[in-house]
Amino acid sequence: MTNGVAAPDIATGVSGSDASDHREDWRDHAACRYAESELFFPIPSSDKAGAQAALAKAVCKACPVRRECLQFALATRQSHGVWGGMTERERHVVHARGRTA
Ligand code: SF4
Repeated sequence: MTNGVAAPDIATGVSGSDASDHREDWRDHAACRYAESELFFPIPSSDKAGAQAALAKAVCKACPVRRECLQFALATRQSHGVWGGMTERERHVVHARGRTA
């Protein structure tokens, strides 16, 4: 899920347009690039949030850039939405484990 965020290039650490001007961007291959954004960014208080996140995670499961997307979300601490097949709560658990490991 790109959500209009200028992602740093994971491989080089170069951020913003400098990275994407010279390298193919993983976001170009995102399985969700034409998906409805509310699937990937469900409103937590909505009755549909769980079902929407499940649908988003199903899209992620078949995404060719899932690894890159999850790395980006973890590295930039994306606080909302499904990225790389994980919800914000699941990513928070990954971060918490990293702090105690
Ligand atoms: S892993 Fe999921 S959120 Fe990330 S680009 Fe692929 S489909 Fe989108």
